[in-house]
Amino acid sequence: MIEVSQKVNQIFDGVDEQQGDMLAELITWCDMNTGSTNYAGLMQLSEVLLAKLSVFGEAEFVSLPDRVVVNDQGEEVSFQSPPIVRLVLEREHKPSVLLVGHYDTVYDKEHAFQICTDLSNGLINGPGIADLKGGLSVMFKALECLQSAGLLDEIGIEVLLNPDEEIGSPCSGAYLVERAKYHDVGLIFEPSLPDGTLVGERKGSGNFTVRVNGKAAHAGRDIESGRNALVHLTKLFNEINELHGQKDGLTVNIASIQGGGALNVVPDLAVGRFNCRIESNNDIAWLEEQLALMTSEYNSVEGYQVALFGGITRRPKPLTKANQNLQNFITETGNLLGIDVAYRATGGVCDGNNLSQSGLPNVDTLGVRGGDIHSINEYMVIDSLAERTKFVALILMRMAQGEFDFIRDSEKLNKA
Ligand SMILES: [Zn+2]
Repeated sequence: MIEVSQKVNQIFDGVDEQQGDMLAELITWCDMNTGSTNYAGLMQLSEVLLAKLSVFGEAEFVSLPDRVVVNDQGEEVSFQSPPIVRLVLEREHKPSVLLVGHYDTVYDKEHAFQICTDLSNGLINGPGIADLKGGLSVMFKALECLQSAGLLDEIGIEVLLNPDEEIGSPCSGAYLVERAKYHDVGLIFEPSLPDGTLVGERKGSGNFTVRVNGKAAHAGRDIESGRNALVHLTKLFNEINELHGQKDGLTVNIASIQGGGALNVVPDLAVGRFNCRIESNNDIAWLEEQLALMTSEYNSVEGYQVALFGGITRRPKPLTKANQNLQNFITETGNLLGIDVAYRATGGVCDGNNLSQSGLPNVDTLGVRGGDIHSINEYMVIDSLAERTKFVALILMRMAQGEFDFIRDSEKLNKA
C-alpha cells in the first residue's frame, strides 16, 4: 500500500490548523446573498472569488449569454448573466483536470434564510454553506496544498466557477460541455451526503414551459365564443403526465400553472411548467418527440395557439468504464486517509451531467459533507472542511505524480 509521505502529512497538519480561518472566510461568503437571480450579489462574490484564484495565476471572467425565460405573462424576457470565474494553468504534455463549482444558491434576496448560525454541535447552518460555497473553500485550499507540495506545475488545471447551477446552468452549461472536451478528469465540488457518501450515476433532467393562448369572452353573455386557455392547458398536462413511467426511470412533474383572473372572464392565457427526468440517453429523442407531437396536436385545435419551450438540458450521467476507473481511484485515495468511500445513484442533477456529456469522467460530490440542502436547515459538518481538503489535495497530488491511469469515454481534444 502506498503511504502518504512525511511532507504531505506536514502540509495536512497545516490544513487542520487553518480550518478555523477557512470557516471564518466561508461564513463571509455565505452571508453575502447570491441567489441565482441576484445579479448584484453574484457580481460581488465573483470579484472575491477572482481575487482568491488570482493567487495561483491569471484568473479571468468569462461572460455568458443572457438568461431567457418565459414569464407568467407568456413573454420571453432576458436577464444579463454574471460571469464564469475562470483560471487556467496549462501544463503541456501533462494530464489536466477540470475543477468546477457554482457560486449561486437557491435562496433569493427576499428569502428568510440569509446568515450562518453555529449550531455548536460540530455543525453550522447557513445559506449555501454546503451547496456549494463550502466546496469552493475546499477547492482553493486543496490547490494551495498542491502548490506547497511543489506539484502545481506537474498537472494542468482549469477552474470554472459558474453563477447559475441552481437553475440548471442555462447560461453556463454549454461552456462547461465545451471545456470538458479538453481535460482528462473532472472534479466537482457539490456536497457529499452527511456520512460522506458520494454520488455515482445521475439521471438527466429538463425544465419545460408551455404557453397556451386562447380567446377571452364574457362568461355570462358569450362563453361559447371564448377559448379557455386554462382548460386546454390542463388537458394537455394530463396527457403529458401520462408519460411518467413509460420509459425506465422517466418521471414527469407537473409543477405550476399560471393564468386566469376574474370569474366572469374566459381566460385567454395559461402558462404551465413541468420537469422531466430520464435515465437513458437513448430515450431523450423519444421523449422530446412525444412532447412535440402532443403540443402540435393541441396547437391544431381551432382558436388556440400552443407553444412549448425548453428541453432536456442535462443528459444522464451513466456509470461508464472511465467513470468507474476514476471512482475506484478516488476510493483508493480516500482509504489512504482512513476515509471510507461509498457511491450512490440519484435522480438529482448537477454540472457533472454536463461534463459527462462530453465524455469526461468526473466525480461531482467532492465538496464538504452536509445535508438538508435547498432548505433553511442546510448545514455543513465543520470538520469536513479540513477532511475534504486533504482528500481532494491527495487526489490531485497523486494524479500529478502519475499514480492515476487517465482514461476518457471519448477522445480528448487538444487545447483550444
Ligand atoms: Zn449545488
